[in-house]
Amino acid sequence: MMHIRIGTRPSPLALKQVDEIIGLITAYHRDVSAMSVAIDTIGDRDKKTPLSQVDGSDFFTREIDAALIQGDIDCAVHSAKDLPFTIRKGLAIAAITKGIDNRDALVIRGKHLPRSARIGTSSERRKAEIARIGKNYRTVDIRGTIGERLALLDADVIDGLIVAAAALIRLGIKHRIHRYLDVETSPLQGRLAVLIRADRNDLALKFSAIDDRKHWGTVSLIGAGPGAHDLITMRGMRRLSEADIVFYDELGTAEVLRQFPDKEAVAVGKRGGSDGVPQDAINNAMIRAAYNGKNVVRLKGGDPFIFGRGGEEIEALRGALLDYEIVPGITAALAAASYSEVPLTMRTISSSVLFATGRSIDDIVIPKPNSCGTIVYYMGAKTAQVIGEGLRKAGWRDETPVAVIRNASEYMQEESRGTLAQLSDGTLIAVSPSIIIIGDTAGKAPSAGWFARRKKILMTGTNPERYARLGEIIHTPLIELVAPSRHEKIDTALRKLDTYDYLIFTSAHAVDFFFQRLSFLGGDARRCSKTTIAAVGVVTTKALLRYGITPDITPSRACAADLIDIFNERSIRGKHFLLPRSNLASNELPLALRRMGNRVDTLVAYQNRISRNPQKIDLVGIDAVIFTSPSCVRNFKKLYGRIPSDVELMVLGDTTKKAIGRHNGTITIIT
Ligand code: SAH
Repeated sequence: MMHIRIGTRPSPLALKQVDEIIGLITAYHRDVSAMSVAIDTIGDRDKKTPLSQVDGSDFFTREIDAALIQGDIDCAVHSAKDLPFTIRKGLAIAAITKGIDNRDALVIRGKHLPRSARIGTSSERRKAEIARIGKNYRTVDIRGTIGERLALLDADVIDGLIVAAAALIRLGIKHRIHRYLDVETSPLQGRLAVLIRADRNDLALKFSAIDDRKHWGTVSLIGAGPGAHDLITMRGMRRLSEADIVFYDELGTAEVLRQFPDKEAVAVGKRGGSDGVPQDAINNAMIRAAYNGKNVVRLKGGDPFIFGRGGEEIEALRGALLDYEIVPGITAALAAASYSEVPLTMRTISSSVLFATGRSIDDIVIPKPNSCGTIVYYMGAKTAQVIGEGLRKAGWRDETPVAVIRNASEYMQEESRGTLAQLSDGTLIAVSPSIIIIGDTAGKAPSAGWFARRKKILMTGTNPERYARLGEIIHTPLIELVAPSRHEKIDTALRKLDTYDYLIFTSAHAVDFFFQRLSFLGGDARRCSKTTIAAVGVVTTKALLRYGITPDITPSRACAADLIDIFNERSIRGKHFLLPRSNLASNELPLALRRMGNRVDTLVAYQNRISRNPQKIDLVGIDAVIFTSPSCVRNFKKLYGRIPSDVELMVLGDTTKKAIGRHNGTITIIT
């Protein structure tokens, strides 16, 4: 039998809380008995000092902590929401219970509150709440046990009282609740915490049974980078792929999130100065999700700790006792510098960098000329002129070079160059979201950086990696490839594969879908051992190699005509062909083979269909568009109305080119 002495403050509520813990722990462990030990604390004796003026954070726990350390009691029970700030060295949390009602409740004397009601509370947070529920309400700072506070109400000292609903429920006086308040409370409100001495492993083990923390998820605060889909860290990507829910700020995160179309994602950010979700509500939503066992990702543009309120959010997570990690990101200043080719430091020119904000107008940092080499202003679009004037007045030269980079790292990045004089007289302007880089290194950059010079190519098909060598690929697939909805025909063909003389693959996708289905049916490449295999195109050949097959026939050009020539030259007739392909494949090849006197089975191995939510982008800044199939062309016309004449078209194969029809601009055939 293990006997546990549970220390607590002497108030009726504190004793009820201990009863609750005793109930929980003895329900789990038959070999445990427990009793409460009431300990007077200075906070209970001194009822005068308002809490806002209390000295030290252990006002209500000092004596209890001491008893724990000395071993006079085995554990202590507190309201969990009071905890994080009161854990003394040598003590540890053994459990946080699942808890009860998390809400705040209003208790009043009569049926209604008078117009300028006096409302009692002891917490700073609730004072703000009172102002919200009634403009004319006055706050009265009160202290004491719940019973003493209710007595003040009944004696007409105050007209209303805000308390935790959980307290009234535990005291068995839930009926006194007039109404629940629809406000953010501490996420730990209503839960109980058990503290033990850090070296009491025996107790830790016992209490783990009632510890809700083992069901909690984790939170990752992740920097998404400046906007390009691949400027996030590998760790950030991994966490995103494991996340159950993502809370994201909009600026800079869209391209990263687009890679996780099926994730539950909640937009919470502020954009362009608009209000968005209040910080408290963001914090609490994250915390609640984690308490419910979800792995939470908080995704922010750039880096979370640079003008990103990461500090405030982590404070809330600490207060909520959650496990968290912080994954840095590439902040906008770094992306803007690299992508515009403006070095932030350079030997002999600039040996320091300052990151500053252009908001708000009255507290913009203006360093003295020799105190800093390069200055980078965030959020400076609206205040660019003020910044320029301020720096000139502080002694920076009129000709100091300035670079303004908007939408850094995204295909629509814009950059402009000028001088400090131009920034201050308004001829060099910044449009949000922009980074303003000021300093002599900006004068070292070419007028257009490497990214501005690079060809921006919109890619409408699948497998964008294949075209990376051509330029900066902006990938917005207009098609998607899916398995056919019915499998009878493909399954019949796969079961009698050995009866075919020839198997022809005209795309890598056909190879993949074909072998996936074959594998699903329990077969593998050995089923094709008697069949001659032809592959059109290098990529198709590579796909076959992945399944252990080296094709027997590979025409030198990636087109059906060349393959037909090969079969013609070899006078192939009377043979049985199988052609697994997409629902949209052309009939040129099967017709030609049949004309030669062969038997041809075509098979829909996959469907090429219009993508479910195609993304339409602003084509300004796009230099070329890649079409990899006629269906991409058709879907593009549907989505954009027409094919623009002022961009280069890059098309895969003749059939795709034909689908474009008449076009005045350049058309390049790619492979
Ligand atoms: N945490 C973010 C900054 C958020 S403050 C980071 O580390 O980058 C928002 C400001 O960042 C914008 O007003 C703008 O000045 C800057 N910014 C963010 N993304 C940008 C981009 N792609 N190009 C230029 N400036 C950007």
